[in-house]
Amino acid sequence: MRKYHAKKMDKKAIYPYQSWKITEEEFLLQNNHHNESIFSLGNGYMGLRGTFEEDYPGSEETTTPGFYINGVYASEKIMYGEEAPDLPVCGQTIVNLADWSEINLYINEEKLDLLKGRILDYKRELDMKQAILNRELIWEDRQERQIKIKIQRLISLSREHIGAVRYKFKPLNFSGKININSAVNGDVRNHHHLRDKEALRVTDSGIDTYKGYLLHEVKSTKFKIAYFVEHLLNSSLKKQCKIKKRSSEKRVDWIFEINAREGSEYTIDKIVGINHSSMKEENPLSDARASAARASISGFEALKQEQAEFMSGYWQDVDVKIEGDEALQQAFRFNAFHILQSAGKNGRTSVAAKGISGEYYEGHYFWDTESYILPFYAFQRPEVARNLLIYRYNNLDRARKNAARMKLKGALFPWRTINGEESSGFFMGSTVQYHINADIAYAVNLYYQISRDQEFMENYGLEILLETARMWLSLGSYISLCDSSFCFNVVCGPDEYKPGVNNNAYTNFMAKFNIEKAVEMAEKIKKQSPEKFQKIAEKIDFKIDEIAEMKKIAADIYLPYNEKLKITPQDDSFLYKNPVEVDDISEEELPLVKNWHPLIIWRYQVIKQADVILLMLQLGDKFSRDLKIRNYDYYEPKTTHDSSLSPAVYSIIASEIGYKKQAYKYFMQTARLDLDDYNENAYQGLHIACMGGTWLALVQGFAGMRMFNDKLYFHPGLPDEWNKYQFRLRFKGSQIEVTVTKDKANYFLISGNSVEFKHFDKNICLDKNNLSREVAI
Ligand code: BGC
Repeated sequence: MRKYHAKKMDKKAIYPYQSWKITEEEFLLQNNHHNESIFSLGNGYMGLRGTFEEDYPGSEETTTPGFYINGVYASEKIMYGEEAPDLPVCGQTIVNLADWSEINLYINEEKLDLLKGRILDYKRELDMKQAILNRELIWEDRQERQIKIKIQRLISLSREHIGAVRYKFKPLNFSGKININSAVNGDVRNHHHLRDKEALRVTDSGIDTYKGYLLHEVKSTKFKIAYFVEHLLNSSLKKQCKIKKRSSEKRVDWIFEINAREGSEYTIDKIVGINHSSMKEENPLSDARASAARASISGFEALKQEQAEFMSGYWQDVDVKIEGDEALQQAFRFNAFHILQSAGKNGRTSVAAKGISGEYYEGHYFWDTESYILPFYAFQRPEVARNLLIYRYNNLDRARKNAARMKLKGALFPWRTINGEESSGFFMGSTVQYHINADIAYAVNLYYQISRDQEFMENYGLEILLETARMWLSLGSYISLCDSSFCFNVVCGPDEYKPGVNNNAYTNFMAKFNIEKAVEMAEKIKKQSPEKFQKIAEKIDFKIDEIAEMKKIAADIYLPYNEKLKITPQDDSFLYKNPVEVDDISEEELPLVKNWHPLIIWRYQVIKQADVILLMLQLGDKFSRDLKIRNYDYYEPKTTHDSSLSPAVYSIIASEIGYKKQAYKYFMQTARLDLDDYNENAYQGLHIACMGGTWLALVQGFAGMRMFNDKLYFHPGLPDEWNKYQFRLRFKGSQIEVTVTKDKANYFLISGNSVEFKHFDKNICLDKNNLSREVAI
């Protein structure tokens, strides 16, 4: 690990180490922005940042309020300074939608404001076991009237369209008038991209005593979003309060006014149904109304109960237990919690780079999903992995168009997108990363190997494999001066600091894998389900001799190796660039992405993120241990890890080659990146791929799990700093639990018929008669 990275981690923890909770013990303005991401809630469909119910009057630099629906975006024409043919025409940007959580409290006319009066007691706590956010505070206004407030907030995980707030207040040292102003505030706009535009218009609103709604439309894309609110008041409040309603151009407001009694507690539950529609003729209001009505009948307690039950099932599958390190235990749960909250699970959405926790990266989906998140799901909740792949399948037509835009055949998946179209005009960092096709193909294969989901492969997977493979055939060429092998020119591997290079090793190897898998699956399905195969072949006009062509080209792909250095060159030019090591660059100049002009970066042998090293992981069976060591030694000093996707991969390979200390350090850089805010940018939204990387670094790194050619392997070890770790995996319909201690590994069959795998060189089979095996490590 380089000096710069080690220093970054030398930070005081922001929250106490607690295994199931994240607690903000004191309201500190300087932490507010960061907290908004950390305490964001979501369910894959929608996400709400951890802003307060009451208005927050702090400066713009300390807050980015946001409520988003995964996949709901505005679109506008990309304005190019310099035009060029076939550049993407329109961008897509996730939209900050109405704030339905708003509740302001007034003591007489004095508004609860954390920046005024005095905060006598304060605690906010994210309870990851129950998926609920709790906040309790005692506030004293300028007349020294003290009020205790308890707020619980949830976004339902079992009811996609429900968000709810329970708001309790109790005057501690006075009796008098209290107003609770609950609202749906549609007067919102984006804070980052599109900040100067009004992306939304309110098209309708309505208000009744306890209920009401607002309807929004995204002007450019015609998405309609309905928010339907119901308030449930506890009996003393209901009996005594006067209710005023107000519906103005962009918001609906309820004011519940009560002559509150000292020492009495009052409760308002605000239950909100949120639905959207992308079809012109549809109106999502009746759905939102129905969602809210059902949830109100169940009541807040029932929503809480369901939430706890949902989480208990989730933790059964994904909980990683670490003994001996509370900070890491907390980090694992925090990361798994946000991965759950971020992932679209309906086949129409995916996982944005920042999840649904912020506007940065515009809510776009990248390769992050397939390469960093999908394995987490495929091995633990395969049905979610399936839907993430169905999302890609549903956008195959757009990927075909994208390929045609680049004069290519088959399908080319966009580098960044929401609706399936390439949405970045910055081609140096986007379309040039053709490797996304192979990453998706790799994920299709991974999911299939784990799940044996033949139906998926026949109806969706094969078509993706064939169309992505076709793209490679049309992208590359036989180059006579390169031993007449098949080369891919002007590409970019995962290392975004080297765009437009020839024969990026990661790209070439992964393209070969993509084509080979397409051939293997085509032959298999042609044999097993000829009608199915025929149907796909007709649909995509696939000629049988394409198989032979694919086989030949896959065999001829140029696979770079440098004889002099005995390493895998990142690409044709990398080793000839100006040498530099990260330790030679002054700290003020890092991260380079912010400090060096791209042309300067391109001049040097300097790397943004794991590239060859990621290849050593994904296709690790194709490289010897010695080569992995040489590659690691060569590339590690040159890697800035300016992308949070990088350290986890270095950790995994460091584990594999026996660099235990480095493995642990890189793991630590990944695990608490957002909690401790190493990159000082978590306020922009969470780093979801990095969170997936934490899981990979444990399971593939410390436990050395690999899956090649349908077979599962473990090479477990225990970091010196821990006593024990444990996780669960699903494989071919069974679930196993792996426990690793100082000198032993225990494999236990939890469900399913049998599982076979290798523990180092030993074959192990768990079945009904041999439910568990303990082996030395
Ligand atoms: C990384 C990409 C990644 C993107 C979104 C960039 O900084 O270089 O690999 O896909 O962030 O997370």
